[in-house]
Amino acid sequence: MKALLYDSKDSRWGIKDISTPTSRSNKELIIKTLHCGICGSDLHRIFSPQEDQERIVLGHEIVGKTEDNKIVVVNPIQNCGKCQLCVNGQSQFCKESINIGKNVNGGYSEFVSVYQSNIYDISDFTYPHVATLTDSIAVVIHALNKLQFPIKNQHILITGDGTIAGVIAAILNIIAPNAHVYLKGKNPKNFHLLAENYNTKEFLPNGAKGNFDVCFETVGRAQDDTLSVCIENSSYGGEILVLGVYPEGFLSQIPLRNIFYKEIRLIGVNSFVKSNKTDNFGEAVSLLRNHSEVFLPLITHSYKLEDVNKALQTIGNKGTEPVLKVLFTLD
Ligand SMILES: [Zn+2]
Ligand SMILES: [Zn+2]
Repeated sequence: MKALLYDSKDSRWGIKDISTPTSRSNKELIIKTLHCGICGSDLHRIFSPQEDQERIVLGHEIVGKTEDNKIVVVNPIQNCGKCQLCVNGQSQFCKESINIGKNVNGGYSEFVSVYQSNIYDISDFTYPHVATLTDSIAVVIHALNKLQFPIKNQHILITGDGTIAGVIAAILNIIAPNAHVYLKGKNPKNFHLLAENYNTKEFLPNGAKGNFDVCFETVGRAQDDTLSVCIENSSYGGEILVLGVYPEGFLSQIPLRNIFYKEIRLIGVNSFVKSNKTDNFGEAVSLLRNHSEVFLPLITHSYKLEDVNKALQTIGNKGTEPVLKVLFTLD
């Protein structure tokens, strides 16, 4: 079957022919990939490929078709369910988890082996490709569960204008239509798309500080401007959800005094939870089932696997057009 893999001899990504997977146990089944999203974590590996990328197929935002023709979306994280963390409902920290598209082959290929307990039937979806956003939606649901108060009509700041920022704006549109949502990003095209669809306003800090009850930091990377903006513009007793991913060893200079002075709660958000009581991925599927059209504008591009370089060009070309979720679509 076709799979996208890195070739270190040529220093490039390309299609290789690898053997079609067979299910490793009766807990797994093989699905045919229909769509697979390109996620920030994939991009990190695409642009700085590790040795692994010559053999392990990337892609964890998978929508596929089972042998009996059901359309399914895949929760890519199979946690052990037995360790103390899993038992305590903190599966996001499970050290034994198997991650599709990270430590076992993922969806940038024609077929992929997935856990039966981790697939969700979406055969009823009008737009199955929107379900490539389920993973991102699950992360945002997990984030919202960490807040002290549910969002209703508060003032909200989102830093960043990528897919996660868009997913937050879309979800707030559904669950908190009276919230005042401001966005601080860099890409005007993305900003316009989000403003048009989700009524987000542009945050222009011109001297006067904002007064945001909840801030979402979605950028991460080796910079602290976006987190500093959140801290400086948080309200007294405000909450800041940190969804951005920072590189290991990165030290930052953030305005710490504000955290003390305003009693700000700084909350890290890492992945999502699956336990006996909580299934963030399942909740995300339900939200999509009832509101898929709300999320539709967030899918901006779709490419064939063979057109990987065009896809990467699009992602690198932010600024000339809106670029949010970019997919591979296989047929
Ligand atoms: Zn992802
Ligand atoms: Zn575990």
